[in-house]
Amino acid sequence: MITASPHSRLSSPAPGWRQLWRDAITDARELLQAVGLDDRTDLLPRDDAGFAVRVPRGFVARMRRHDPTDPLLLQVLPQRAEHDRVEGFTTDAVGDMASKAGHGLLHKYDGRALLIASGSCAVNCRYCFRRHFPYGEEIAAASQWRDALAHVKADPSIRELILSGGDPLALATHKLDELTRGLADLPHVIRLRIHTRLPVVLPERIDEAFMAWLGALPLQKVVVLHTNHANELDASVDAACARLRDAGATLLNQSVLLRGINDDAGALVDLSERLFAAGVLPYYLHQLDRVQGAAHFEVDDARALALADTLRARLPGYLVPRLVREVGGDASKRPL
Ligand SMILES: *Cc1c(COP(=O)(O)O)cnc(C)c1O
Ligand code: SF4
Repeated sequence: MITASPHSRLSSPAPGWRQLWRDAITDARELLQAVGLDDRTDLLPRDDAGFAVRVPRGFVARMRRHDPTDPLLLQVLPQRAEHDRVEGFTTDAVGDMASKAGHGLLHKYDGRALLIASGSCAVNCRYCFRRHFPYGEEIAAASQWRDALAHVKADPSIRELILSGGDPLALATHKLDELTRGLADLPHVIRLRIHTRLPVVLPERIDEAFMAWLGALPLQKVVVLHTNHANELDASVDAACARLRDAGATLLNQSVLLRGINDDAGALVDLSERLFAAGVLPYYLHQLDRVQGAAHFEVDDARALALADTLRARLPGYLVPRLVREVGGDASKRPL
């Protein structure tokens, strides 16, 4: 008989975020099993269309069981329709991204520069342009940060540095610290903005070390989350949001309008309400980037505008996200 020693189990610390990241489900059949759909392998395409399955188990736990139309499942489960070739949907939907990310910095809009801080994500969202962007693991390594920061230093009009990716919080906290130390001698940069899905899909990422780093930054801080459906938010996400606010961050959210997932006024109203309950304001509702393999998620503009009208009628103005599309060459996101 095996007897537990007094200190085993109970005293073992909770797994850290790196461990949880590695434990993600990376197999479509295992994902189906995890939600009680073992017998629905007929849903799966012949392969993953070149974009691996990846989803943290904590996110899977928020999916409804036995429901192939679950709005969280549909964001991460490969679909047969990904193999369809649809006119206008390309592997280069955000072409300027791919071409300029070599040195890591995109400076398209006045006053803001966006750094591709990491190419990794904890989750692979099937509608994402990233499915065609062969990022390296750490796209803006320390030496490239020097180049990127030199550009920011030389341009005093840049008031805000945006960390994006991929997911910038894929970087170890000490890497983030290296980066922001480089901002110390750039007094014109007064804001740091972080675009991340990690507080939603792997809220354990917002740990003590991260909080200490964020809390100590002598900058204004904005964190833009990425959530598409109210069911993505649970108590663990609420806790991560509370910690981010405690560290001084203003919390915003961007969503992508996705057919079959959130293209419904009720779903979008619930999302705004749920975000606000977590202390997060809706910021953007994006029309889909037209990437190959994602056409089945597209919502046409007329329907998108009708949804936006309904949201304005049903929600306080501060809970209505701006409906926008990214158009190459524009000076900002383009309102619909
Ligand atoms: C979206 C984006 C931004 C941020 O735009 P906001 O409208 O300020 O949210 C900045 N730089 C680039 C390159 C972008 O694509
Ligand atoms: S960049 Fe955002 S949308 Fe794309 S796969 Fe990563 S987390 Fe998902």
